[in-house]
Amino acid sequence: MTATVPASTTLKSYDKLFIGGTWVEPSSDKVIEVVSPITEELLATVPDAQPADIDKAVAAARKAFDDGPWPRMTAEERAKYLVRIQQEVEKRFDAMAAAFTAEIGAPAGASVAFHNNALKMWGDASTLHERFEFEEERSWADGHGKLVREPIGVVATIIPWNGPVATASLKIAPALAAGCTVVLKPAPEGPVSMMLLAEALEAAGLPEGVISLLPGGRETGEHLVRHKDVDKISFTGSTAAGRKIMSLCGERIARVTLELGGKSAGIIADDISLDKVFPALAFAGIGHSGQVCAAITRIVVPRHRQDEVVDTIKTIFESVSVGDPRDDSVAIGPLAAERQRTRVLDYIEVGKAEGARLVTGGGRPAGLNKGWYVEPTLFADVTNDMRIAQEEIFGPVVVVIPFDSIDEAVAIANDSDYGLSGAVYAEDAALAESIARRVRTGQISINGWDMCVTQPFGGYKQSGLGREGNVEGLSSFLETKLIQFAD
Ligand code: NAD
Repeated sequence: MTATVPASTTLKSYDKLFIGGTWVEPSSDKVIEVVSPITEELLATVPDAQPADIDKAVAAARKAFDDGPWPRMTAEERAKYLVRIQQEVEKRFDAMAAAFTAEIGAPAGASVAFHNNALKMWGDASTLHERFEFEEERSWADGHGKLVREPIGVVATIIPWNGPVATASLKIAPALAAGCTVVLKPAPEGPVSMMLLAEALEAAGLPEGVISLLPGGRETGEHLVRHKDVDKISFTGSTAAGRKIMSLCGERIARVTLELGGKSAGIIADDISLDKVFPALAFAGIGHSGQVCAAITRIVVPRHRQDEVVDTIKTIFESVSVGDPRDDSVAIGPLAAERQRTRVLDYIEVGKAEGARLVTGGGRPAGLNKGWYVEPTLFADVTNDMRIAQEEIFGPVVVVIPFDSIDEAVAIANDSDYGLSGAVYAEDAALAESIARRVRTGQISINGWDMCVTQPFGGYKQSGLGREGNVEGLSSFLETKLIQFAD
């Protein structure tokens, strides 16, 4: 395989934090070291935000919300800034996509797709005011008044590393459209694409204090969640962290939206040719090395078709190009971090110990001696009670689970703590829709798979709380007030 780009990429280092719209000296000299998952080389450093930096950013956001122009503008006026942000993101599109590939290891195609999603979200949020009633007249049996939807206040957004510019945009674009002010804490893994987002936000010229972006670790995140001047927390990340954050929010009844983990099922019915299912369904599990919350990692198949399905996926997994993600011909890159690779390899051992059959994969791809690579891995003879069928692995590991009836297929899909995404493949359209309706999940696709980010996105059960995207996402950044008129 020939790489079309040099083996080492340098990324821009940063020595300041983006607080309230300007670059500010950090409170400490602690830095985040950005290490390449491809070459294991140090690529850049950025400041590691500490609680004192968060305090500054929250104070700026509070002041901007309580006294500044942002919440008092019309939604149309704010939308003009969102258009400007979209333009500034577009100007930096290539740099962001390249940084994300270098620091997280996403193949070029996936990186471009994630950043396209970010553009879509800014575009969508800039038109929300055209299809949302911020105010309406209400009358009832013995009175009348106005229902007024007001920005919720200072919003803290905390996000993971697996698609940060897109994930951040899904939160901050509607939060800004609503009139909120925002403090955004990206994960310490892969912060450079986010610093480029901060540059785009700076260039868009939002009023002072409206937005801050401070990469930092878990304790910094927790400080932000606990902050009494933060009105709402919008979190994306693991279910474990979401549980902790929700309990902290409970202490002061802070508003919270949670976008958490998944273990989504793809159900294949009896009547459909596998040509119409694969290779797409196989990539729905291993694309971006399986580091996608909505990945389809359980493939649920009629028992008598299990061998046929397993053989098909095996052939795909063994022929897919795994390697340096900067090479355009590569479909699967490394995992984002060494600890992520260790976790995935541990799960592969768990699967073997549980008695599942390792069909292909399970280790480091031949010839890739550096970097956090794991081969696309397939397990068969899996029962849904196994840990590899129940727990989110967040790596390129797919399990095949057989069923004997459609009722059983639905029961398997639903026998999960999660409910984020899903897919159904059936020739019979009525059957496909009836299965889709019975699976308890936030989004489900028929005869294909996609994450739709401009429509409500979010999870049932432990996959989350609330929805992002479109007017449903906007609503989560608003409080509802009734003004009653006595006469
Ligand atoms: P993580 O939960 O460890 O970290 C996510 C973010 O939360 C990071 O910024 C981290 O610093 C911060 N954080 C962690 N613990 C915290 C705490 N107690 N208080 C405040 N902040 C805290 O998740 P990860 O391993 O970085 O990301 C992978 C997870 O994210 C997977 O479970 C994946 O499914 C999930 N995810 C979900 C969605 C979705 O939309 N549902 C999208 C992408 C990723």
